[in-house]
Amino acid sequence: MNRRNFLRTSFLGTALAISPISFSAFGEPTRTAARPGCLNLSFQPYELKLRHAFNLAKNKRTTTPGVQVRLEYDGLIGYGEASMPPYLGESVESVTAFLSRLDLGQFSDPFRIEDIHAYMDSVAPDNRAAKASVDIALHDLLGKIMGQPWYKIWGLNPDNTPNTSYTISYQSDPAEMQKEIDECRPFRVVKVKMGVGHDKEIVEALRRSSDVPICVDANQGWSEKEHALEMCHWLAERGCLFVEQPMPKEMVDETAWLRERSPLPLVADEFLQRLPDVQRAHGVYDAINIKLMKSTGMHEAYKMAVLARALGMKVMLGCMTETSCAVTAAAQLSPMVDWADLDGNLLISNDRFDGLHIVDGKVVLPDRPGIGVELLG
Ligand code: MG
Repeated sequence: MNRRNFLRTSFLGTALAISPISFSAFGEPTRTAARPGCLNLSFQPYELKLRHAFNLAKNKRTTTPGVQVRLEYDGLIGYGEASMPPYLGESVESVTAFLSRLDLGQFSDPFRIEDIHAYMDSVAPDNRAAKASVDIALHDLLGKIMGQPWYKIWGLNPDNTPNTSYTISYQSDPAEMQKEIDECRPFRVVKVKMGVGHDKEIVEALRRSSDVPICVDANQGWSEKEHALEMCHWLAERGCLFVEQPMPKEMVDETAWLRERSPLPLVADEFLQRLPDVQRAHGVYDAINIKLMKSTGMHEAYKMAVLARALGMKVMLGCMTETSCAVTAAAQLSPMVDWADLDGNLLISNDRFDGLHIVDGKVVLPDRPGIGVELLG
């Protein structure tokens, strides 16, 4: 039995009812009206539990709200996910409200990706994570229909996947800090969160036991351009590859000033969300950080990567704190990027999917159709 027939058989009869196996641990999902031969959407909240508290420049948190999504069509199921870190302004309430408004049952052809995105954008302008959850599930579904993973559909070579960085953040307890440093040993690049007032301490703590290359995410934490420049020089002398979002996203002129002087490339993260922002970032930053929860999913993320390349910019692929569902979906793009920060699934203790693996620090894509994930348990 080939994979598609297996999937069909496994999920036969689920077009009108949600499999109790899939979502049983998370209560009854919300579903929109199911119609045979059409796209049927269901979803439910799922709180992601962090293995270590995240100490960011502007807040600290131990959980991240999420919503898990299923899209059914013709006996096949696509999985998707929305993850909503607080700074992006989406919540379980806003995502489920948006998804409840969607009538995807009007689409009898799931390959109408452009139409489906145009429809979602017509329902409400923002809601990027909510749209991403549908987009990811749609890509998973389409890949299963075609029997191919998306990196193959996009013509990408899976041998060209990058190393991924692993994120550590400052911990006031030295033992906790050492624990974070120990956990990053298998990785070839370590991402350091800065902008919290302990910027040099964290690098010095790491450098006492490791010479692994680092990249720095200031999370908009440096508001003085002279200080940002001094930090860039200091970091360049300590094995840093690039600095992500050094200054507040509104400080465009100051960031362009910094870019002209910085010995390290600057990467736009909070500055940039969707495709039109890539052009805006050109000349201000050297690279863009694409994340599915900002770009409304894989469809626009691919276009952003292509545009950035055409503009001569470098491309970084990031993620939020997510299960392996959204991280593996993003990883399908990874053979075409310069840098990857795909550790979101490793930062949580309650992943519900198997997907990408990290071997010797490098992204290894699963040989499965769609986004390449399987439900655990
Ligand atoms: Mg960032």
